[in-house]
Amino acid sequence: MSGSEELIKICHKVYEKGFVSAYDGNLSMRISTDRFFITRSGVCKGEVKETDILEIDGSGNKIKGEGKVTTEYKIHILAYNNRPEINAVIHCHPVYSTAFAAKEEGFENPVFPEVVLTLGKIPLCKYATPSTDELPESMEPYINDCNALLLQNHGAVTFGSSINDAYYKMEKLEHIAKTLFVARLLGGEKNIPEQKLKQLYEIAESTYNLKPNSKY
Ligand SMILES: [Zn+2]
Repeated sequence: MSGSEELIKICHKVYEKGFVSAYDGNLSMRISTDRFFITRSGVCKGEVKETDILEIDGSGNKIKGEGKVTTEYKIHILAYNNRPEINAVIHCHPVYSTAFAAKEEGFENPVFPEVVLTLGKIPLCKYATPSTDELPESMEPYINDCNALLLQNHGAVTFGSSINDAYYKMEKLEHIAKTLFVARLLGGEKNIPEQKLKQLYEIAESTYNLKPNSKY
């Protein structure tokens, strides 16, 4: 499967999963050091086809393709320019994650072991006007240390070593948001005990490549 085919498959998946509605969201992947595929502006992710994928450079200039570059390209470029190991970025508005972001709450407490191991802390970036430089600026304090971010009153972003990896991080993020919502209906979540958290970090260090600052 070519790079753009993989990207198209994940576009369809985020729409089917309800992580975006109408023309929301944008997805991208790195094709070389300074070249990226990104979904064009104003396309429903459920209907993305080959001609809806643009090629851009590391400054957001269009290199190939028909249509406008999304104004949210800055979210993607910030990640690629700061983190050479990131090869894919997904920005969506999934209902539960975005509801927490609207409530001004990130996921900064250790509640689920697999999240501690694979996603790490998920900070909330303070509200920024979409399309402006304020948006990447709001992400800058966290960009070097995270696998996922919430954007206040807006949505979520995940980063991955591949487009599948970024997708599964988005799916996991939305799943924990939904689970926390239900836990609160049942009286509220409890954190993993401090002592047990140390044990988890030993596993994280030996098995997963979790960045030290994304520890809880
Ligand atoms: Zn958005």
